[in-house]
Amino acid sequence: MTLQTYEGGCHCGRLRFRVRGDLATTSECNCSICTMKGFLHLVVPRDQFDLIRGSDELTTYTFNTGVARHTFCRHCGIHSFYVPRSFPNGVSVNVRCLEGVDLAAIRPVPFDGRHWEDAMRTPNVVSGPGQVGA
Ligand SMILES: [Zn+2]
Repeated sequence: MTLQTYEGGCHCGRLRFRVRGDLATTSECNCSICTMKGFLHLVVPRDQFDLIRGSDELTTYTFNTGVARHTFCRHCGIHSFYVPRSFPNGVSVNVRCLEGVDLAAIRPVPFDGRHWEDAMRTPNVVSGPGQVGA
């Protein structure tokens, strides 16, 4: 577990944040919305995430159970972080929105968000960093 600090944000730059996390826990979810977005999840406890600026620029999309709050920039539309259903006390940051990350070197762990209830029941799947779902 190597915690490192990264900075990132949305495309237009109105949103900026800092996150401490381990990119080895990056996961990729096959649910309906993550598939379309290509979201690469880095899930961290909320105290490892700092929104530097842009809280007024966020808008929120919810669907299905409404637990996951899919926040995105209302100007450029980029979904750079949100609060996932599987870890409501944490934040999932889109690794694609972090600076200085070699995306080709990342080996995302698959998460079966398409069958969310089953995936969360599987004994070796814990709710926490590294495990996400819409
Ligand atoms: Zn933006």
